[in-house]
Amino acid sequence: MHNAEIRVDLDAIRANVARLKAGTTAEVMAVVKADGYGHGMVPCARAALDGGATWLGVTTLDEALALRAAGITAPVLAWLLTPGLPLADAVAADVDLSAADQVRLAEIVAAARETGRCARVHLKIDTGLGRGGAARADWPGLVEAAAKAAADGDLDVVGVWSHLANSDVPDHPSIDAQVAAFTDALDVAARLGVTPRYRHLANSGATLTRPDTHFDLVRPGIAVYGLSPVEGQRFGLRPAMSVRARVMLVKRLPAGQGISYGHHYVTTSETTVAVVPVGYADGVPRAASGQGPVAVGGQTFRIAGRVCMDQIVLDVGDLPVRAGDEAVLFGGDGPHVDEWAAVCGTINYEIVARMGSNRMARVYD
Ligand code: PLP
Repeated sequence: MHNAEIRVDLDAIRANVARLKAGTTAEVMAVVKADGYGHGMVPCARAALDGGATWLGVTTLDEALALRAAGITAPVLAWLLTPGLPLADAVAADVDLSAADQVRLAEIVAAARETGRCARVHLKIDTGLGRGGAARADWPGLVEAAAKAAADGDLDVVGVWSHLANSDVPDHPSIDAQVAAFTDALDVAARLGVTPRYRHLANSGATLTRPDTHFDLVRPGIAVYGLSPVEGQRFGLRPAMSVRARVMLVKRLPAGQGISYGHHYVTTSETTVAVVPVGYADGVPRAASGQGPVAVGGQTFRIAGRVCMDQIVLDVGDLPVRAGDEAVLFGGDGPHVDEWAAVCGTINYEIVARMGSNRMARVYD
């Protein structure tokens, strides 16, 4: 074991995807962007495909090309494309590209011509999230331009898609409104001669709770990693990530000793403290100061005082903790990541994405 490490249970990822697949007649696109939400993109992509996913979703072109470079041949959709990217590389690598405006569409057409191939495109409509996707007023123009490029043999409109704003609240009225707006957008596209093989709208929350949003393909992300977007519900998913570190130093301190920068924690009696070499440079949020639960020797302690760049301190009382003992921040038989999210005032997504994008070693079970 390293000083601190992230363990990723790939069996859990396989099982989570199989569970999602069992709940729908749609195909499953496992979203593996952001380095697999901190879990490692390529191993998680392979595990998700083993579990029954038939598509992979990423944001950047670099992520898509890294999947191809790893030898993954499943369909991959990349959806955050700024102007001027080398889209010909994507077309040559058979990466599906999202277009939400005519400028990006024209770039994709140019890339198709450059490579002499037909580019695979998913047209994105904003049905109410107010973020990516074509505004409804611009939709007919985008579809017409895509239909012309398809007729010219430059494009295959593989998908029409959109993204939900409130699927973490399963009965939120905006979900019905977005489904209705999506259906309208599909009708407009059909009238203009575009009938895609894949209509897709649902992320994890909707995949788990709203079959009426599934259409032909669902795009779960957080649920693939065993975490729930819906507060208070876990859906039988298995969290894939655990974060562990080894106690580095143990010592007895007297009552009245301030602990860590700022002395925000002061010992109330003679006690044992354990110093654990993990901190905010490893992705442990500083907001967890005084709060973050850490399990050692079967007991859970709150971080004593501030989270430092590379270290935290635990006041373990009289527990016989020794240097080298394992401290579990979350996962496995330790605290749940949702407890970390709650004390940090954030969501489980941010905790795993942060931890996984820093310097801790990643180990796969
Ligand atoms: N689809 C799109 C467009 C996304 O941006 C995301 C993630 O933010 C997802 C799907 C997956 O969402 P979730 O992790 O909530 O399942």
